[in-house]
Amino acid sequence: MQPGCGKRIGNRQSTLILEDTWAGNLPVKFKRNIPPNHGNAPKHVKEPIRGRSWDASKVWHYFNRSDAQRNLFTYIPQQEKEDEIIWLHKENGNYLRWRIFCWRLAHDALPTRGNLVKRRIEINPSCVFCGNKESSDHMFLNCEITKRIWSSSDLDLVAILWAIWLHRNNVIFGNVKPNPQEVLNLTNIELERWYRGFEESTGKGDKSTLTSIIKDKKITSWSWGNTIQEENILKIDGAWKVMKNGGIQATYGWVMEHGNRCIQEKANRIFAASPLQAEAQAMLEGISSARIEWLTVAIFTDFERMIQTLHKPESAPTNCYFLILDILFVLKTFTACSIYKVCRSNVRRAHELATQARQGP
Ligand SMILES: [Zn+2]
Repeated sequence: MQPGCGKRIGNRQSTLILEDTWAGNLPVKFKRNIPPNHGNAPKHVKEPIRGRSWDASKVWHYFNRSDAQRNLFTYIPQQEKEDEIIWLHKENGNYLRWRIFCWRLAHDALPTRGNLVKRRIEINPSCVFCGNKESSDHMFLNCEITKRIWSSSDLDLVAILWAIWLHRNNVIFGNVKPNPQEVLNLTNIELERWYRGFEESTGKGDKSTLTSIIKDKKITSWSWGNTIQEENILKIDGAWKVMKNGGIQATYGWVMEHGNRCIQEKANRIFAASPLQAEAQAMLEGISSARIEWLTVAIFTDFERMIQTLHKPESAPTNCYFLILDILFVLKTFTACSIYKVCRSNVRRAHELATQARQGP
């Protein structure tokens, strides 16, 4: 596979687990104690999948937590589709920052104090965490503070490296006290930004795409068939959150209402890599039930990006592209449907359901 290319999971026949990039924009690896050529370890993406869903126990068995989550988050399409080769995000600002950081780290080109001294810049060469000489090896591996972070975390490797570097800079430039816990917090925040980055691939500060965002902002509805004054209303809401321990909790809720009367409602926990994916899952579940009762429907969402993505499915992140196509497929089985961006108060009941599902039984 070409560098910069990835796979979008369809029927999973041609995608290799370790060689292809198919879960988000990063390759996945097995747990540290499982060698890549381990006899029983799955080789193809189809192996840890049963029917049309992930075999969670297999996934958790072979993959470390962040990879396991990314795998489970990858939506498996309900329609039969080939795996597709795609060009991985070039617009994701976070991705770019991490790549530059990793490149500099690999080439020992970070402006560590050790490197600055080598360039004859007069500076105190000691590590801000422990006082020993600061080099990349020291900061990311050998420093006592860093060792504590590695031993207490199974989060994404790159996110930790990046968080160590951010924390070090905060200590030097931001007058912050060295604290391993702070590095773990930063790791979570950066991972969250990373996941959000997929969804908001237009990125903060990425000026080149700003005009396209402004254009997209005008899109606040989507419809199919003749739009009529609609009495059948489906309200949907997805809830999505990164927990303190780095885990992600996602739920959805939906309510079917006919003339202000609730016909049916449902909430559930799900796997989702981003708020968009949670919202899309809410929509797919909701319309799949509504389809049984109704021929026409008006859908309310408070998530504008959801509607933009229906307009432009190719803008969907890899792990929910087929989810969006499945939604469009189901929507077109209604004789008419419209989707509206509404404010939060208009989907309050769906939001309550999603929040309750988060707290669990
Ligand atoms: Zn140190």
